[in-house]
Amino acid sequence: MSITTSVLDELGITCQTENIYHQIISAVLDASEQLELPRRLQLMMAQPKNELIVHFPVRMDDGSFRLFKGYRVQHNNVLGPYKGGTRYHEDVTLDHVKALAVLMTMKTALIRLPFGGAKGGVKVDPYSLSEDELMRMTRRFVSALGANIGPDYDIPAPDVGTNAQVMAWMADTYENISEPSKRLGRAGVVTGKPLEYGGSHGRDKATGQGAVDVLEELLPELNIAIDQMSYSLIGFGNVGSWTARLLSERGATLKAVLDHTGAIVNEKGLDAQALAAYVAEHRGVAGFPGGKAFSEEDFYSLPVDLLIPAALEQMITTENAALINCRVLVEAANAPVTPAAERDLLNKGVTILPAILCSAGGVTVSYFEWKQNRQAEVWSAEEVDRQLRAKMIAAARRVNQMAKTLRCDLRTAAYCSALEHLNKVYNIRGIFP
Ligand code: GLU
Repeated sequence: MSITTSVLDELGITCQTENIYHQIISAVLDASEQLELPRRLQLMMAQPKNELIVHFPVRMDDGSFRLFKGYRVQHNNVLGPYKGGTRYHEDVTLDHVKALAVLMTMKTALIRLPFGGAKGGVKVDPYSLSEDELMRMTRRFVSALGANIGPDYDIPAPDVGTNAQVMAWMADTYENISEPSKRLGRAGVVTGKPLEYGGSHGRDKATGQGAVDVLEELLPELNIAIDQMSYSLIGFGNVGSWTARLLSERGATLKAVLDHTGAIVNEKGLDAQALAAYVAEHRGVAGFPGGKAFSEEDFYSLPVDLLIPAALEQMITTENAALINCRVLVEAANAPVTPAAERDLLNKGVTILPAILCSAGGVTVSYFEWKQNRQAEVWSAEEVDRQLRAKMIAAARRVNQMAKTLRCDLRTAAYCSALEHLNKVYNIRGIFP
């Protein structure tokens, strides 16, 4: 019996191989076997501590009411308050949020932040709402969550479909429903806020910056020079566009981008800055004058040094893995590769730099923001960059070292490093009572 089946069996859960939550748990449990970690840690990792579902009505602009479904999954808090983003997307489900919450526990543990892991979301297409509707929905979601979030307890942040403005509405609502005498530092209930309202320098670009810091540390060992390499991107939202802008400053060539509107290519290099401005206006890469349209199949087959998925989960399947022609796959998004596609890519000799490392820059600067809020301080952009880089490089080295010690792939190594830390803290703290 596999470790996943045996752990899920003990928890009374039937293992479903297509379920993203079971897939992530399975990879985490496989890693725990490498380090022979105790059964109790395996059981605790396989189930979130709390799973909250809220239903709440919102008045629409036309006077009608619509009922929304929101989630907050608090996976683990042995290292500190629960921490993780809030996603607004029509495909959000409980298992999806659970999968993303486990990844947050792994990320914060890998970076050695004093946070646990959580994730939340609302099942909604945010672009179908007016700005007022989005604000009312956000405020109502926060009031439905009530005391289940808080700056010392569970700290949401942006994720797909949410941004600094949404975080500002969340923080403002939370402050308004808190006791007036206890409002100091309450804006620290969420991170990723606008700079003017308790946000941090560098939070917007943080996930892209963190990925680039990791690349600068790990690519030389793979004999890839950043200023001479080529790469393609999946997704050109916050993470994709910042990664591209930062890599273009370092001389790398962005050959192609695929997003929900189509794929574009320019063998001589797409202008990342101009593309970011175009996408901000047109909400997609299709039609960008600096590139040519081409098919999804051609996009995946294009030879590049790096392929960087920076969009939604499970974009890389066995079908497109068969076409992929890159040396390194950089997971700037959460869980972009299915387990079957991962096996195919590793068999082809592709190095995969795992999501819990490459996409951890966001939560790391969230930690800096939370710290600044608690201390009523404002750090300079340079200070944020410097501290982020130090954390990302230390984590990249930790993963590299673990892979060498265990002779395993980098994803397993990253999970092992996170789990080893969590296990140590459990051993030190013991299990209450
Ligand atoms: N949503 C981001 C992530 O998946 C950021 C989380 C945070 O800043 O708490 O890592």
